[in-house]
Amino acid sequence: MRQKLLATLAATLTLALHPPGSRAAEVPLDQWDGQRAMGRIADLLRFTPRAIDTPGHEQAIDYIKAEMGKTSADVVTTQRWTFKDSAGASHAMTNIIARFQPSNPHRVIVATHYDSIVRAYRDARSPDAPMPGANNSASGVAVLLETARVLSLMPKPAVGIDMIFFDGEEGPKALGAGDPNWMAIGSPYFVHHLHDYYPAQKPEKAVVLDMVCDKDLELQPEPSSLALALPEVKKFWTAGAAIAPKAFSTKSTSYPISDDHTALNGAGIPSFLVIDFEYEPYFNTTQDTIDKCSVDSLQAVGRTLLQYLYLP
Ligand SMILES: [Zn+2]
Repeated sequence: MRQKLLATLAATLTLALHPPGSRAAEVPLDQWDGQRAMGRIADLLRFTPRAIDTPGHEQAIDYIKAEMGKTSADVVTTQRWTFKDSAGASHAMTNIIARFQPSNPHRVIVATHYDSIVRAYRDARSPDAPMPGANNSASGVAVLLETARVLSLMPKPAVGIDMIFFDGEEGPKALGAGDPNWMAIGSPYFVHHLHDYYPAQKPEKAVVLDMVCDKDLELQPEPSSLALALPEVKKFWTAGAAIAPKAFSTKSTSYPISDDHTALNGAGIPSFLVIDFEYEPYFNTTQDTIDKCSVDSLQAVGRTLLQYLYLP
């Protein structure tokens, strides 16, 4: 993902939350297990780097498909294509899409990206070394996998859920913000072929997670999410403030952040990003390792997501 530093937008907004007491029916949030999610991050780190064009990328795809296959997702499918970059090089791309209650017309997308950057370009000492991506890429996947496991134990929510593990969020060079010509690949491709998955009506909303395991978790809404999905941001942050007050800040970031929600918003699906972008000095270095993650942070995000999916 990348932040856009626009002087004109360098102001923070404060999100007004719904009054307390608007929580939905009892959802057994304690089923959502941060320790299990942490185990998922450990599993994924074995495949580092998980960047496009690497063996670890294929291993991550196989792992996610296999793990989603153990849940109550009715369909686990892949969207495969070849991406040609501006230099003419081809890259094999794969979005993984797992659908719960596929015949339910009211659909919500829960997404993250699974590709990592290819090297730790921000590392002062070893910019060519692998970038583990415990937080930047593995944490989002871990939250989706654990959420899928818990959903399989619970009554079906009112909405049909499509979990999407996007490829290529880190761009054609797999350098994320380290590439001045960065652009996400997987989510724009997905929205370009939206009709393949939603022939009758578009999904109603989307939540995108990225960088959500930081020990010192502070989730701030970012301006493009507030502009295009304000009611959903309010619902999510209100649920989060009841579950883990310290992790949910009502103050927005002073800059918009581009991530996979950007393409979804572009397709007219109200979409928002859940991210803790303040991850210095580890961001995109060799130090983005599992010891920077916490069980409590994963639980704060995962339980909020679970609650959100059961809100009216
Ligand atoms: Zn990311």
